[in-house]
Amino acid sequence: MDCKKAMELMTQFINEQLNTEDTEAFLNHIDSCPECREELEVTYSLMTAMKQLDADEDLSENYIEELNQKIETCYLDELKRKRSCARRRVVLAVVVSLLVLLNGITANEKREEEDRRFLRRITGIEESEITKENEVIATEEKGENGQNSECENEE
Ligand SMILES: [Zn+2]
Repeated sequence: MDCKKAMELMTQFINEQLNTEDTEAFLNHIDSCPECREELEVTYSLMTAMKQLDADEDLSENYIEELNQKIETCYLDELKRKRSCARRRVVLAVVVSLLVLLNGITANEKREEEDRRFLRRITGIEESEITKENEVIATEEKGENGQNSECENEE
């Protein structure tokens, strides 16, 4: 931004009519250009004083300080906006990856169940055989228990 453009945007900046991009460019110029900074201080003091007179308010004691605060809050707003944008992007990324992960898990579970059913149908394993398998496992468990009880008996 050059001085001409900065002068053009000055009143808009003071009236808070600039968009984010222009505010950033304007503040950057003010930061590096003492002439425009001085001009801004004078214009701000005049405009604020006139507004205060119009509104029958008390006049500020230190316009420069007020202006500095205004510039600072503008900078802070810029930073906040950028940070919150970045944070929002991070949160969004996390949420999206979580959703993908959850979808993947449930899809896998469904697929596994379908695979099991499909395998059963192909291999011709009927419900009865599955119960037989379960019985085998049960008897094996019983056997272990039996051994345990024998050991206890020996002692
Ligand atoms: Zn300048």
